[in-house]
Amino acid sequence: MYMLTVDEALALILQHVTTAVPQTVPLGDCLSRVLAENLLTPHDSPPFDKSMMDGFVVNSTGLDGGTSQTLSVLETITAGTVPTWNVVPGTASRIMTGAPIPDGGDCVIPIERVRFDEGHPETVTISGIDVAAERHILRQGCLAKTGEPLLSQGTIIEPQHIAVLAEFGVAEVPVFRRPTVAVLATGDELLPIDQPLTAGRIRNSNEPMLVGQIQRAQATAVPLGIARDDHSQLQACIQRGLECDFLLLSGGVSAGTLDLVPSELATAGVEQVFHKIQMKPGKPLWFGQRTADGRKCLVFGLPGNPVSSMICFELFVRTALRAFCGALKPEPTTVRATLSQNVAVRGDRLTYFPAKCVPGESGMMAEPVRWGGSADLRSTADANGMIVLEPRAEEYESGERVDAVLW
Ligand code: AMP
Ligand code: MG
Repeated sequence: MYMLTVDEALALILQHVTTAVPQTVPLGDCLSRVLAENLLTPHDSPPFDKSMMDGFVVNSTGLDGGTSQTLSVLETITAGTVPTWNVVPGTASRIMTGAPIPDGGDCVIPIERVRFDEGHPETVTISGIDVAAERHILRQGCLAKTGEPLLSQGTIIEPQHIAVLAEFGVAEVPVFRRPTVAVLATGDELLPIDQPLTAGRIRNSNEPMLVGQIQRAQATAVPLGIARDDHSQLQACIQRGLECDFLLLSGGVSAGTLDLVPSELATAGVEQVFHKIQMKPGKPLWFGQRTADGRKCLVFGLPGNPVSSMICFELFVRTALRAFCGALKPEPTTVRATLSQNVAVRGDRLTYFPAKCVPGESGMMAEPVRWGGSADLRSTADANGMIVLEPRAEEYESGERVDAVLW
């Protein structure tokens, strides 16, 4: 049977994702959300001509000859007030940083450069070498003009974007709705994490891991607990999960006698898009969708082995979540990294190998962790990403360049 490559699987997933409808949220709640519209500047920035220095504003005509001149002081203009006098040759106004430039003013001389006595504030003596038209003045609209592009759709909103939105008075921000993501762990062996171990049982570590991954992806997690490998219980839990935008199941998608997930999903009306991928770990990944009453739920059957689940989430589910949220480039971002140790790949599938990637003097360095395979969850605690290794007979050597995907 032909198995899809990772790239083919990613392309198929992206074909099935529908971008969320936009909503507006208050500016204070939009961190890490994805902007849903192209925004234009609603007004000039700065909105008026303003001083960039504390000092005196003058009219440069006839003053720039290099000689000293004593000017009469008209007024003090502080930030937030408006000037009342025009500056004409022979006069100056005291001005503070951020205050509006009066008509006639075209040069600000910093306070440190003038002779000025607070006891005799009627005059100020300036030197012509400090005078040049436009010096220390920020003209209206010189940073951005009304109607220019401000932020583009798909921008992931960070604090600098929040500041820009605030400057232009965008108090309600159009963003894409966050997806709801149900998590269903399946397996008769699973115990809730607060239970002592009993014979043959293990704790359900995949659910809290996936919830954390969902939260890191800025989506809303809906944990559904543990379903036993039992038709009716699985079916009931699947029905609840299908009410979300995404349903992630862990376990039950391999070839065991109790791997009931694909058949229960079919019973629930979920159409299979693919099952199994040429990759390691993560080969048993199952993906499908159900559309009912105009609502769509995308369903991922993640392999139960913890590292497989984790890696399939980072590659496939995260891509789907980014696309749902309107990201411009939803595919996983790879960075180039230099191996700091030898590492061997076994088998004939593209391997995603947990690694610790840290910036070094000559770019990103990747240190593969001591990893015992798809069940070796503990070792992933030393990793912050995964390196991508094509299958090959000889070891990858320290110093070789590889692709890495950071979590
Ligand atoms: P399965 O895909 O159901 O055959 O499970 C593969 C392996 O992953 C088995 O060793 C399971 O015990 C383990 N496993 C399945 N689900 C979980 C889970 N929620 N947390 C931790 N390990 C799990
Ligand atoms: Mg199982």
